[in-house]
Amino acid sequence: ARLANQIAAGEVVERPASVVKELVENSIDAGANRIEVDIEKGGHRLIRVRDNGGGIAKEELTLALSRHATSKIASLDDLEAIMSLGFRGEALASVSSVSRLTLSSRTEGASEAWAAQAEGRDMEVKLSPVAHPVGTTVEVHDLFFNTPARRKFLKAEKTEFAHIDELVRRIALSRMDVALVLRHNGKVMRQYPALRGDNLDARLGAVCGQDFCRHLLALDNQHQALRLWGWVSEAPRNHPDLQYCYVNGRMMKDKLINHAVREAFGGRLAEGQHGAYVLYLELPANQVDVNVHPAKHEVRFHDARLVHDFIARALADALAQSGL
Ligand code: ADP
Ligand code: MG
Repeated sequence: ARLANQIAAGEVVERPASVVKELVENSIDAGANRIEVDIEKGGHRLIRVRDNGGGIAKEELTLALSRHATSKIASLDDLEAIMSLGFRGEALASVSSVSRLTLSSRTEGASEAWAAQAEGRDMEVKLSPVAHPVGTTVEVHDLFFNTPARRKFLKAEKTEFAHIDELVRRIALSRMDVALVLRHNGKVMRQYPALRGDNLDARLGAVCGQDFCRHLLALDNQHQALRLWGWVSEAPRNHPDLQYCYVNGRMMKDKLINHAVREAFGGRLAEGQHGAYVLYLELPANQVDVNVHPAKHEVRFHDARLVHDFIARALADALAQSGL
């Protein structure tokens, strides 16, 4: 069982930041509105994600650590309509096969909290009582300790932490209603309070910098069932790498979207320059496949042309109105 999970881990678990991504997405799926991420030594030594979500019942803990166990999908038909972030049911099993992972949790109304750990070649799960508030904590110690080849590919502590930091920023922009804390070696590096409603600019400033906000252009466009909203900076020159895009709440690095944005910015950009943006595309779940890549960064739109042209036009209109 461990070997099969390790093979799967090869696809999903590239580096500490990919572990953080899977764990934080699980917390969001569990309805948490406060998530704390603790990192030691760039994630080489420890990755800990603690949330105040719904928790996992004692009887479900063993299942949560086994491969292809997901509580989020009842049948194959659900795959199309799935809206939760994780659905393949292999993140925890994969990560626990290449690290020393402890899953601790407590559900509302439960009198005790339990910790689960999978050990040995057969990944046998051991349960023990622990003290834990309602919610879940996943601790990942010594990532890749048993896969020396992968361990060798880990970069310096600083580099790995930079990837985690960037990931947390991306998540911070995707769910402004969730409070996030990121610590490295015990020091608070990022702290985003939960926001609701109309003061979203506060988090935008915290994540993207006040400069991005000073030259901001807000847009909100609808065409048929498509909606594009968010912000474009009128000073893209100063922010070459501020490009955040979300499709139905998921972070995406998508070629089609990038292309549409470039087209909209058109002659405004010099060679090698990029526009700065934070954009949210919303469309019916049955018009998009999100399962294209295991790391889930890419999407496939059923009507790619329609989506591309809608984004390009919405942005071009907004830019034209701004008189840029
Ligand atoms: P997936 O997210 O694809 O379902 P995972 O391996 O990431 O697969 O998680 C397995 C299962 O464990 C989830 O379906 C969920 O039921 C449970 N789980 C994992 N993390 C959490 C969490 N932070 N809070 C509550 N339940 C969780
Ligand atoms: Mg998951």
